[in-house]
Amino acid sequence: MKTSILAVGTELLFGQTVNTNAAYLSDKLNHMGFDVMYHFVVGDNPQRLKDKLKEAFRDTDLVLLTGGLGPTQDDLTKEMVAEVMGAEMYLDERALSDLKELFRKRGGDMAENNLKQAYLPVGCTPFYNASGTAPGFALSKDGKTAVCFPGPPREMKWLFENGVREYLEQFMDKKMYYRVIRTIGIGESDLEMLLMPLIDGQTDPTIATYAKEGECTLRVASQRDTIDEARQAVDEMIGRIDKLAGEYIYSYDDEELNEVVVKILKEKGLHIASAESCTAGMFPAAITDVAGASEVLSSAYITYSNESKINEINVDAGIIDRYGVVSPQVAEAMAIGTKARSGADIAVTITGYAGPEADPGHEAGEAYIGYAMWDKVGHYAIHTSRPIRNWNRRYFTLRMLRAVYLLIR
Ligand code: AMP
Ligand code: MG
Repeated sequence: MKTSILAVGTELLFGQTVNTNAAYLSDKLNHMGFDVMYHFVVGDNPQRLKDKLKEAFRDTDLVLLTGGLGPTQDDLTKEMVAEVMGAEMYLDERALSDLKELFRKRGGDMAENNLKQAYLPVGCTPFYNASGTAPGFALSKDGKTAVCFPGPPREMKWLFENGVREYLEQFMDKKMYYRVIRTIGIGESDLEMLLMPLIDGQTDPTIATYAKEGECTLRVASQRDTIDEARQAVDEMIGRIDKLAGEYIYSYDDEELNEVVVKILKEKGLHIASAESCTAGMFPAAITDVAGASEVLSSAYITYSNESKINEINVDAGIIDRYGVVSPQVAEAMAIGTKARSGADIAVTITGYAGPEADPGHEAGEAYIGYAMWDKVGHYAIHTSRPIRNWNRRYFTLRMLRAVYLLIR
């Protein structure tokens, strides 16, 4: 179904408020299988609001509006929607009693203008709002439907999940099924090239790629007559994706890499230790973000200086002298030392330049990840070519997680 979103509020045009409601609704609608074709933003101006709504109705059949349902003078979305769709207003008893109850609980008197919020267009489907004062509603006429939400994101989300989502399902003639695949170690354009034989000319299932901070996500979606057919089509496509890009995939169910790593470590009863310079604790922070990390994390060393690498995890000073502290040899020596000192099954380490500066002969974004597991020792070289400190540190941490994932999967 052709859909648009019309956000109402002058603060959005001033740039004081970011239009997160449109992003949220687009994401939800897209996942449900609606075709979101336009985002409109209009200020609190009656004429322009009506004009935009008419334009939205001309090009799409479903329009979701957010904002302008409050008690104040400039909140006029409801009235304008009713006017465009030729509906009168009525005082909704349930909305009124909800309002009175809310003010009774808050222990204050209800200001006269709050009464305005209990009026709704005749013939609408109300969505009563337990998370705030203004109810939302849906109104249809001649095959066109408007759904109105209050502006505060918390209330908008609450109404979407408590009524609107269910209401919208009547417009879905097909059933939608999708899965989200997470990859790391390959850029979005390379991944797309790799999958081109599958993406090219494909209408269902659709494959969409999104890049996100060094990771790449794939969404495989199908719309069929039954959910079983859609699921089968998606699973079959995932099998084909797996053949082409399996080495980069770490989750078929939209999990985070740290969750997957902790899950596998737990399943296999393995303990891990780490030693870091440039990420300085971000690896164990990622591991301990996951509940139950105590079962898998044994020690985490922050060995920022050469001395601490030598004294705490027993790196040979000669190796640092000979190869430089940011080198594959040092990363591996750190891994061997960390594993011995901690007694863990696996050690993962990093030495590198987060940037923006690097020592002569090196560049920001150069790093080496070392690993040791049982008698296996090795390293990965990273060159992000980015002088952006925060970006590099996050990316290095992901790559440490990936190094562990590749060892244990
Ligand atoms: P309103 O329902 O127009 O009174 O909006 C109440 C508040 O919700 C505004 O002051 C904004 O802070 C917030 N808000 C309104 N529209 C949006 C939007 N599209 N995205 C995010 N926040 C919004
Ligand atoms: Mg407003």
